[in-house]
Amino acid sequence: MKKIKQILIGTHNKGKFKELSYLLPRKLKKISPLELKIKSPKESGKSFLENSKLKANYFYKASKIPSISDDSGLSISCLKGKPGIYSARWAKKYGGFKQAMKKIIKMVEEKNKNKKFKNTKAKFVCSLTYRFSNSHIFNSQGEVQGNISKKIKGKNGFGYDPIFIPRKHYITFGQMKWKKKILMDHRYIAYKKIKKKISIL
Ligand code: IMP
Repeated sequence: MKKIKQILIGTHNKGKFKELSYLLPRKLKKISPLELKIKSPKESGKSFLENSKLKANYFYKASKIPSISDDSGLSISCLKGKPGIYSARWAKKYGGFKQAMKKIIKMVEEKNKNKKFKNTKAKFVCSLTYRFSNSHIFNSQGEVQGNISKKIKGKNGFGYDPIFIPRKHYITFGQMKWKKKILMDHRYIAYKKIKKKISIL
């Protein structure tokens, strides 16, 4: 396996950048596409896998630096998996994450109206792709199961963290300590599977 000294974390999302920086080996120099003035690619894929590969390929080609990218999102059972790969786009559509979270809570409530057994199940999904040369590309998947909360709770984390209660817990990701959340989430699960492919000098 080729050893590397630096890695480009292919995302413009500050929350993801911070999490991936924390998970990657400390000695590895982490580079942001912002530093190299590389814009985001168009997410034209139809799945988390297609989009994460598309991003890693794009950032690798643009920078010639080994690159890691994720595509992730929230998939809600009673909404037939929505917003899924459109999680970031829903936030734009509804005027920010707070509005999108309010909308989701309403939609979940609506779907469960008059139901004896409420289905608030949801999962965070992550597809992680590491591309370190023209011919080497690795991918892994991670999921964390949970439920949508009745209210927006907590100020930690990013994105949809304040409405997601991971299974076997009673608080949202947004209420959890940052270090606890990132060592149990979908990105961490995906990262653990790909970790050994990232060997450093
Ligand atoms: P994308 O992968 O760039 O399409 O963006 C994924 C979107 O999903 C992010 O903008 C967040 O809204 C959401 N998301 C992904 N991972 C997390 C997480 O760990 N916490 C909260 N929201 C997340």
